[in-house]
Amino acid sequence: MDQSTKVFKFGGASVKDAEAIRNVAEILQNYRQDTLLIVLSAMGKTTNALEAVVNAHVAQTNEATSLLEALKLQHYLVMNELFSSDDEVYALVNDTFVEIEWVLDEEPHDNFDYMYDQIVSVGELISTKILCAYLNNQGLPTQWLDARDVILTNELYREAWVQWQETEERFQKNAQPLLQKGGFVVTQGFIGATQENFTTTLGRDGSDYSAAIFSFCAGAESMTIWKDAPGVFSADPRFFPEATMLPEMSYDEAIAMTYYGAKIIHLKTVGPLKRKHIPLHVRSFLEPSAEGTLISEREVTTYPPLLAIEANQVLLQISNKDYSFVTEQHFSQIFNVISDLRMQVTFIQNTPLILYISVFDQGDKVVQFADRIQDSLETSPVKNLELINIRHATAELLTQLRQERKVLVEQTNGASAHLIVEKS
Ligand code: ASP
Ligand code: MG
Repeated sequence: MDQSTKVFKFGGASVKDAEAIRNVAEILQNYRQDTLLIVLSAMGKTTNALEAVVNAHVAQTNEATSLLEALKLQHYLVMNELFSSDDEVYALVNDTFVEIEWVLDEEPHDNFDYMYDQIVSVGELISTKILCAYLNNQGLPTQWLDARDVILTNELYREAWVQWQETEERFQKNAQPLLQKGGFVVTQGFIGATQENFTTTLGRDGSDYSAAIFSFCAGAESMTIWKDAPGVFSADPRFFPEATMLPEMSYDEAIAMTYYGAKIIHLKTVGPLKRKHIPLHVRSFLEPSAEGTLISEREVTTYPPLLAIEANQVLLQISNKDYSFVTEQHFSQIFNVISDLRMQVTFIQNTPLILYISVFDQGDKVVQFADRIQDSLETSPVKNLELINIRHATAELLTQLRQERKVLVEQTNGASAHLIVEKS
């Protein structure tokens, strides 16, 4: 195992246009001595644009092709600024876009999630081809690695699960030799493949997780996520101007924060790093000399209050029709329905007469849920709520929040406090 590999993840914003791509190359000039595996997202808002192509194809509105053409044009405009007109990268990128055209030539596939992955994954295939070609032109020898030759997943399209053992074996076989040759290796975030070689995706914003998978397999010395923010903040500075940047946090604190909805890094990222004691740096590609935030196994003794908000919540207030308690006989029924409907639970609290469950408000799931338990249980849902999760809350902060917001239910345990509140 090569202990000296570093893994860098660059997100969509870091390669959103020609200037951004030049900036990435400039940062990478400082690492030419390193064995570097670069994990890259699709450029800018490409994934959203590809989702629109998928939806148009399913709706058969004839818009899919024009949406795709617009996206291709955007990419070509960026490429025109970076490459001379005879560069072979144009053919490479064009051939990759053609894969989408093949899908669009056919009737929409019965399995939406499968079709989604075949189309949406192209964003990362293209961004990596562009960056790889550009780095080589800049005198930074870089090899392109197909992440689908490494990350093996199950067939849960759009939310695929990694098959760790095979992925580690494939890493040794297909990635390690490239790293050993020296220079950089660039590969795609977000995507993997099934045993039958169909492309899968790991869930939106999954590139951080991909980088962690590669770091794990490489036994990397460190992983760095390059973002458009200077590091991890104690809360979203757009909503809490008093938020501060954390120079350091422990793996467990980062896991708790992401679990509770902080949008700093993808939820699944820290687990694999923690298992292999791989430090994670979160740094700014706009300010590459700044240290950013270090996430590692070192315990940090004091944290400021850390706040994360889950929007779009609906609170299910479940009670027994005969005013008795909600008890064990009901729990299995309730949670079976939740699992069947793939509802995402964010908060649970049982009280003598009401069981409170907060979930993301998705489609008509709440109506279906209420229907399916109505034999014995009554559901009264409250919509348009937010869940405020706070780690290391101070009494002052809680008092302030209770004054500012109407709190419906509240829970504290250990270092965490959770408030279900009306939207402000
Ligand atoms: N491009 C994918 C997305 O936008 C994955 C990622 O950027 O992490 O969700
Ligand atoms: Mg992203």
